[in-house]
Amino acid sequence: MFVSENLTVNNKNHLVIGKNDTVELAKEFGTPLYVLDEDLIRKNCRIYKDAMDKYYGGKGLVLYANKAFCSLYTCRIVNEEGLGVDVVSGGELYTAVKAGFPMDRVYFHGNNKTDDEIEFAVENGVGNIIVDNIYELEKLNETAGKRGIIQNIMFRIKPGVDAHTHSFVQTGQIDSKFGVALENGEAFEIIEKASKMPNVRVNGVHCHIGSQIFDIEPFCKAAEVMMNFIGDLKDRLDLEIDCLNLGGGYGIMYTENDDPVPYDEYIQHVSEIVKKTAGERGVKLPFILMEPGRSIVAPAGITLYTVGGIKDIKNVRKYVSVDGGMGDNPRYIMYESEYEAVIANNADAARTEKVTIAGKCCESGDILIRDAMMPEINVGDTLAVLATGAYNYSMASNYNRIPRPAVVAVSDGKAKVVVKRETYEDIIRNDIM
Ligand SMILES: *Cc1c(COP(=O)(O)O)cnc(C)c1O
Repeated sequence: MFVSENLTVNNKNHLVIGKNDTVELAKEFGTPLYVLDEDLIRKNCRIYKDAMDKYYGGKGLVLYANKAFCSLYTCRIVNEEGLGVDVVSGGELYTAVKAGFPMDRVYFHGNNKTDDEIEFAVENGVGNIIVDNIYELEKLNETAGKRGIIQNIMFRIKPGVDAHTHSFVQTGQIDSKFGVALENGEAFEIIEKASKMPNVRVNGVHCHIGSQIFDIEPFCKAAEVMMNFIGDLKDRLDLEIDCLNLGGGYGIMYTENDDPVPYDEYIQHVSEIVKKTAGERGVKLPFILMEPGRSIVAPAGITLYTVGGIKDIKNVRKYVSVDGGMGDNPRYIMYESEYEAVIANNADAARTEKVTIAGKCCESGDILIRDAMMPEINVGDTLAVLATGAYNYSMASNYNRIPRPAVVAVSDGKAKVVVKRETYEDIIRNDIM
């Protein structure tokens, strides 16, 4: 009935997530409110992990891409599930350190890691650093040298694969700020240089072709290209590569128009290609890494709002404004992303009118859903926007000095605050004078 499997309706006709009545959650914790279903996050982690065991003999590790939703809480949950994490900044790394995440399962990405971030990573013993460019490689070799260690590294490669997704979230093509390209020899050159450096060890190669992708084909293509590159490195440099990191990007269902592939099928198909190409090229089977972010947390999240002013502009548009917006969910203003919404206190009512659900920020583009078919909405209703677990909280801002919402995690009928609601005091916390 809803886009996410964990949502139901109870006998009061209220929307329920993880056995919790969402209307009660809104009353108890206030709105806007992010709600995360811990049981579904754990289930999604296990689907990936089990598929890695089943289709690739467990010779791999699933990394949760922290940028989708990074907090002490999410780090702890995915650690308990035995996943690794990828981090893309000093702040995400700091969060993982503070959450007690084992550093050998941390992978550090980013196209412009600062000197401080590199030092912070080396100092904390981050397992693998995914090198993006030559400046970073040199800095890393020097930093590791000063500490007398050999740092494991991987290289971010652009495999030249079209991911069939929004151009803002495509990353595998040559015209991208991420990584080094194959087709002009750049990737080969940088790895040849690295292989001669004393304080780095080339452990693997990495690619990430984009996000919210619904086809298996581009992932298979990327795996094949990367395996052939591993073959070339062996043939031309006599360099054996241990790890192949295939990134994330698996699509999820935001609305009924989305048709995602079951997560385990990606691993199934990609494993086959890796094994086949390894055989053809005479290279050993690499340890595989995959980095799902969105697909682990997005379906587990919803955001609850309270409906405020309703403006029916005759023959033009009906606006329904809520007490949040682009501050807690900037995905419409960034990508015109689509979402589904439910009146939490009247969850299975017939959808009879077209409305535009707007936020409270001073931007006309501050929309949550344009032209949504909704039941009759009244001031004071609780509105739930679905599948907001990824890239909502993590992209949230204090625009208009609106405090960020709290995050509540639910599991088996229990709810707990895992990130506090910001206060006005928090808003001025760093202001001096
Ligand atoms: C963003 C990102 C991911 C995760 O992408 P999803 O679409 O959330 O699965 C994985 N790896 C890298 C390097 C990324 O930048």
